[in-house]
Amino acid sequence: MSKISLLRVGLLLLVLSTFTFAAKVKHSVWEKGLSFEQYLKKYQVPEEVLESLDGEDALLVSDVENTKRYYELIASNGVLLQALIPVGEELQLHLFKTPKAYKIEVIPVAYQKNTYVSLLSVEKSPHADIINKVKNRGLATEFTRLLKHSVNFRGIQKKDKVAIVYTQKMHLGQPIGVPNIKVAMLESRKKKHYVFKHTDGKYYNEEGKVLVQKYMKKPLNHVRITSHFTNRRFHPVLKRWKAHLGTDFGARRGTPILAAADGKVIFSGWQGGYGKVIKIQHKDGYVTLYAHQSRLKSKTGQRVTQGQVIGYVGTTGRSTGSHLHFGLYKNGRAINPMSMVKFSTGGLTGKDKRAFLNRKKKYTKIINKIFDDNMPSHVWNTVNEIAVSPEMKTYYKNRGW
Ligand SMILES: [Zn+2]
Repeated sequence: MSKISLLRVGLLLLVLSTFTFAAKVKHSVWEKGLSFEQYLKKYQVPEEVLESLDGEDALLVSDVENTKRYYELIASNGVLLQALIPVGEELQLHLFKTPKAYKIEVIPVAYQKNTYVSLLSVEKSPHADIINKVKNRGLATEFTRLLKHSVNFRGIQKKDKVAIVYTQKMHLGQPIGVPNIKVAMLESRKKKHYVFKHTDGKYYNEEGKVLVQKYMKKPLNHVRITSHFTNRRFHPVLKRWKAHLGTDFGARRGTPILAAADGKVIFSGWQGGYGKVIKIQHKDGYVTLYAHQSRLKSKTGQRVTQGQVIGYVGTTGRSTGSHLHFGLYKNGRAINPMSMVKFSTGGLTGKDKRAFLNRKKKYTKIINKIFDDNMPSHVWNTVNEIAVSPEMKTYYKNRGW
């Protein structure tokens, strides 16, 4: 290394360290309804920074409005040096200042996925007790949603027992996304009520009958999926992280779009990459989103019923052809729309039923062991795996992290 370049490195380090010492890390909550473009304006970041993003990334940027907590590194003179803003469950926007200009990239959120087993004795109600003791509001909601079909919650008494085996993604000590309940049990008046999740993603009772009906319908009469939901994938050619926070259905311009379930339209209008878009609020904290429409047929505030025509397929916003981008959100987080849309009904038969009974046996054994050991309360790990995919390890390694 020549003297001059050494000097340059020295200068750069000096500049960086002055920044570092004078800068503060800020942990903030995203302002409701704030778009990413407005956020850039707030810090006088030129909008050209968005030009490096392609169509799919632009949709991710539109999704920033669902963000809750995010991080900023701000210099003492108020200049934004860095921002880390989660989008979806597994990716985040990384906006950062270089000596020349601002840059933006999409990078993965490092999280841990743990399997937990919880056992607790009812004091107030299963919902309140799960929040108080396990400190996981999402788990309380999911447990109630799954069990309310088979147990009369009014009959629950003190000292009734709750047992849950579930996996949960954790980031900086906080649960992210909806917990994935494998088996849940409620013992009430000496009778045990179980719910099991099968490999098809549906919940069944002990006899292998579907317990929780998926109450949403397809948003188009004829569906042809052209792009599936992904929380995170690595694009092998672009060498970049991508996500697709919805399901795309190919359909001709003008095809009627149907409300997936009863609800209230909470947004009808234009929104960034989504173009003409409608969002509907449903029960249990679900929101559906219908993007790239050619014409909107329902207004903000309007009540709609399942199957009602709310608009027409188009290609507005960041879209390369006529299609419907259908998104589903649970408590503000994008989840796979197909997990709630009903395509077929009925219980398990034949090979599927035998596979189900095997899983059921395994999980009933775990639950019974908890009871036999009489574990006092309430959470401990059974499995501890770090959910870092091999590509992600390489990615971090290449950047020297
Ligand atoms: Zn899409």
